[in-house]
Amino acid sequence: MNTQEYIDQAEQALLHTYNRYQIVFDHGDGVYLYDTDGKKYLDFVSGIGVYALGYNVKEYNDALKAQIDKILHTSNYYYSAPLASAAKKLTEFAHMDKVFFTNSGAEAIEGALKAAIKYAYNKNHSHEHEIIAMDHSFHGRTCGALAVTGKQAYREAFEPLICDVKFATYNDLDSVKALISDKTCAVIMETVQGEGGIYPGNKEFIEGVDKLCKENDILLILDEIQCGMGRTGSNYAWHKFDVKPDIMTTAKAVGGGVPVGAFLLTDKVANASLVAGDHGTTYGGNPFVCAAVDKVLDLFESGHIIDNVVNVGEYLYEKLEEICAECGHAVEHRGVGLMQGIEFDVPVADIINSALKNGLVLINAGTNILRFLPPLVITRGDVDTMTDILRTALKEAFN
Ligand SMILES: *Cc1c(COP(=O)(O)O)cnc(C)c1O
Repeated sequence: MNTQEYIDQAEQALLHTYNRYQIVFDHGDGVYLYDTDGKKYLDFVSGIGVYALGYNVKEYNDALKAQIDKILHTSNYYYSAPLASAAKKLTEFAHMDKVFFTNSGAEAIEGALKAAIKYAYNKNHSHEHEIIAMDHSFHGRTCGALAVTGKQAYREAFEPLICDVKFATYNDLDSVKALISDKTCAVIMETVQGEGGIYPGNKEFIEGVDKLCKENDILLILDEIQCGMGRTGSNYAWHKFDVKPDIMTTAKAVGGGVPVGAFLLTDKVANASLVAGDHGTTYGGNPFVCAAVDKVLDLFESGHIIDNVVNVGEYLYEKLEEICAECGHAVEHRGVGLMQGIEFDVPVADIINSALKNGLVLINAGTNILRFLPPLVITRGDVDTMTDILRTALKEAFN
């Protein structure tokens, strides 16, 4: 079949919830993707921050193949060696005490919210809980995750969702303070906002919210699904601040390509919230995905991934500053490590299409924001290649 035939066949059967680019990807190697016509693309999206180690990494592939030949799934009524190993390594990597594995980011958020609500319920046996979330936030598409997502258009048709959620302004501590009541059980936010437009939380805000939560016995949930796993130059983005979340979520890069997420808790919350029978999942944490998590964490260490993010992230920042200085339509450049964005005064769809035509995969974060989320193994040379193509794409788009 040719490209158009694959697309037509897919569109005939798929529920149309995505406007997809007209590309059929076939395979990947390193930081490059190849479509079914053999065209090569430099990848600055990494499957939305999933493929942190790049494509076709032999050691990772071998670990998965070996696990396939042993066992894929056991259910959570039993233990497995990959589960034991991944749980130990991930809690250490995250500086948290306990972990629950899920199949996606949204499910990690659901579990985090349930843990926070149960904690509050155990404290006062009330059902009247309030949660504070942020404008521009994104936490996923299931009903609980959607309830705390800051984009009204995503929520509107599906309300009422879960318990009372109030939205504060990100990076505005007073706006959080103003929403706190004696019913507030949790504050949930991304340490660096992703889908909402690449907004890094500043030190005063992140540390201020943490302090506010601790003073009022409110749980702090940090969503690190996009900004975590090394992407901003530390294991998790919150590790750079003087804070400690009670619950945090991870997904996307944690499996290096397989669908897996997790929520992690401090002992304080783990010991006073969800107990046997309160939460579960058929697939979550199965031996296959845990073998992937285990290998990803090994390769993060042996490949000095965090050092690379710091090094190449700084270089990417410099290069994107140059691009912004040259392009009259660029409004603001934001981000940290290998999670950056440029806001334009026009929609970025034409830029993305032109980049794709020229062999560069980029994505937006909101209509006007171009997002850079490459595999964490890119080099400074890859950044140069990207900026060359981006310059061409900008010229074409604004002609
Ligand atoms: C992607 C994302 C989610 C949702 O993850 P899914 O795996 O798509 O359910 C939640 N929070 C953040 C910050 C994300 O970037």
